[in-house]
Amino acid sequence: MNVYDSGRIAAILESLGHHATPTLKEADIVIFNTCHIREKAAEKVFSDLGRLNLIREERWAEGKDTIIGVCGCVVQAEDEQIWKRAPFVDFATGPLTYHRLPEILEKVRRKKGTFVIDTDFPAEDKFDSLPINHASGGCSFLAIQEGCNNFCTYCVVPYTRGAEYSRPVEAVLEEAKRLVADGSVEINLLGQNVNSYHGEDKNGQERNLAYLIRKLAEIDGLKRIRYTTSYPADMTDDLIACYKDVDKLMPYLHLPIQSGSDKILKAMNRRHTSGDYLRIIDKLKEANPEIGMSSDFIVGFPGESDEDFQATLDVVNKVKYIQAFSFKYSPRPGTPAAIMPNQIPEKIKKERLEILQNLLFDYQTKFNQASIGKIMPVLFEHKGRHAKQLIGRTPYMQNLHAELSSDYLNKIVNIRVTDATTNSLTGRVEGV
Ligand code: SAH
Ligand code: SF4
Repeated sequence: MNVYDSGRIAAILESLGHHATPTLKEADIVIFNTCHIREKAAEKVFSDLGRLNLIREERWAEGKDTIIGVCGCVVQAEDEQIWKRAPFVDFATGPLTYHRLPEILEKVRRKKGTFVIDTDFPAEDKFDSLPINHASGGCSFLAIQEGCNNFCTYCVVPYTRGAEYSRPVEAVLEEAKRLVADGSVEINLLGQNVNSYHGEDKNGQERNLAYLIRKLAEIDGLKRIRYTTSYPADMTDDLIACYKDVDKLMPYLHLPIQSGSDKILKAMNRRHTSGDYLRIIDKLKEANPEIGMSSDFIVGFPGESDEDFQATLDVVNKVKYIQAFSFKYSPRPGTPAAIMPNQIPEKIKKERLEILQNLLFDYQTKFNQASIGKIMPVLFEHKGRHAKQLIGRTPYMQNLHAELSSDYLNKIVNIRVTDATTNSLTGRVEGV
């Protein structure tokens, strides 16, 4: 979502006549798009701002002014603190107000030296006010949902991104058609809680994600559909059925469980048990036996015992994830878990994370190695480090490198996998 937002911010600046510079030193405007989900990400903003201030001062000595802005969830959470900690920042705007950048920049120019801040949860639709979302390649992000009403006890998202909101069906379909006309063959639908999507159709009827996926699949030229991130309790049977009926829906699902312990899941205020989660996966496998699973995990949530942690490892051993993201619990100001008793010492969090990651890497490596010899359709998205090398993604989101001319960029090519590591595959065009 942050990559998507940064792209939209860049599009706003382009619509105002700006263009990207190769180095920071050449930039008249620098905007940080920020994440508040864990402490480390949030704190990094301030050290990066400190470094940027040195560049700003160098430019100042050369007679050049620099406008510095901060966007995203850190702004929503820290508010005026941004200016207190980094008094050279010109403006700050939250994740729901960055479409107002043209007015904000105008204000900054008029009031240079003061701090302009906008952290509204605005009534107007951000998505209606943004410039057209043009495809930047074969694979495009399309935001369909924003915010979250789940209030997991560790998470800042409901506070920084606000209440859940779904874009209307027609707006999504129109944007998807435009992205495909622009050259995208894959669309990744985005939302903090994307499978709780409930946008209105043109008759005012609420439609869910399964409906939207089936509608998108009718678009000629669109070859792959993905969506991220999903909440287990919102995995409805009709969404699961899409894995059986909709060929364009990729056989890969990121479905965060967070913990395998029911005690911890309850303390996290997740509306599912580990049993519910495993039953969903059984149903998914029934719909498509080839489906590959991914997840997010938090270790060291307050009160997590050795047994609770073992329950998480048990889930990993059952599901055999093909990819996963895992984090040490990070107490976030203002969330209920931050003041829960029995906070886990850093040392234990670190040990548990290492054990979990080793197990996850093992399964990921095994899955990648089992791909050797297979032929996979790969969408090539970037040039590689070497000449004539392209990097793309398999249906399972594995990165794959192949020697291929850039004519194949943004195209889907059948590749035979020849080698695999934990993080990537190598392959060659079948038949060449
Ligand atoms: N809506 C998604 C996740 C969005 S946040 C869901 O419910 O699954 C992305 C991930 O960051 C979460 O899945 C969680 O694993 C992690 N995360 C969120 N808050 C965290 C915290 N306080 N400490 C550590 N990890 C956290
Ligand atoms: Fe955060 Fe996801 Fe829970 Fe919402 S569902 S509060 S985004 S972890």
